[in-house]
Amino acid sequence: MLAAEMRAQLKRKVETYNTEKGRNIGLAVVIVGNDPASQIYVRNKIKACEEVGFKSFAHYLPGDISQRRAEELVRSLAEDTAVDGILVQLPLPGHLNAQKLLGLIPAEKDVDGFSAENCGKLLLNEKGLVSCTPFGIMKLLEKYNIKIAGSNAVVLGRSNIVGKPMAMLLLNADATVTVCHSKTKNLKDICSAADIIVSAVGKAGFVTADMVKDGAVVIDVGMNRTDKGLCGDVDFENVSKKCSYITPVPGGVGPMTITMLLYNTYLAAVDR
Ligand code: NAP
Repeated sequence: MLAAEMRAQLKRKVETYNTEKGRNIGLAVVIVGNDPASQIYVRNKIKACEEVGFKSFAHYLPGDISQRRAEELVRSLAEDTAVDGILVQLPLPGHLNAQKLLGLIPAEKDVDGFSAENCGKLLLNEKGLVSCTPFGIMKLLEKYNIKIAGSNAVVLGRSNIVGKPMAMLLLNADATVTVCHSKTKNLKDICSAADIIVSAVGKAGFVTADMVKDGAVVIDVGMNRTDKGLCGDVDFENVSKKCSYITPVPGGVGPMTITMLLYNTYLAAVDR
């Protein structure tokens, strides 16, 4: 499995870095409030950090913290030389201005790749930190020798954290990219012509076999909690019979996302 392989490789590199520099690479994680899903994500991220040899700095803030206090913390982390990467777990409570808070993370410590500067660099095809989920998908495509240049790629979803950066990465890799969203017409026709489909819609069973051409590559980003448990956007049972490569949920993209967070933190430390 690529995620496990990459983490093992990273662990060796981090050991070398920590020994040579006499310090541990550090990731600060900020979580506000008690959202149960966010608590689980943060716990998993901290565990993964420690497994590869990072020092983690977890900041659990009360749900009613003021914007000013939250900003003070992010500013102090921005200046802290022990901190290589900063992650603010989303979503934040409604009274906080998330964009303003995220904007205080310096681009070189923005290991989620959400800052305007890093998004701009991706647009310009310049080196920067890239959003973890789409970055992980590019690593999967590379690992399985899936040809991107010249392919017709369809991205379902246009969020700032998955759909848009995914589309830019595919475009930068010379695919012809179509981005679909809730107002897109003739979705079935568009998908049926795709060599690569990346689905980040968030609806169980959204991608059906009649939308997929024979031999296509299907990447399922969706994480949908249903009565049957966690499932993706793709009708895996039927779509998998037609395509040449498909990622399952659970598995597939999910484990790559945390792996790329670790990888981005390593890159942030090495490049500083
Ligand atoms: P999001 O912000 O809710 O975006 C969903 C996108 O789907 C929007 O662009 C929306 O279009 C589009 N959409 C909704 N209905 C549609 C329809 N009928 N036809 C075509 N497009 C439609 O979600 P997100 O944050 O990108 O996440 C998407 C999914 O990926 C979720 O299930 C999330 O849990 C999962 N996810 C997984 C990982 C992972 O590591 N595996 C990481 C991040 C997210 P509009 O823009 O027009 O509203």
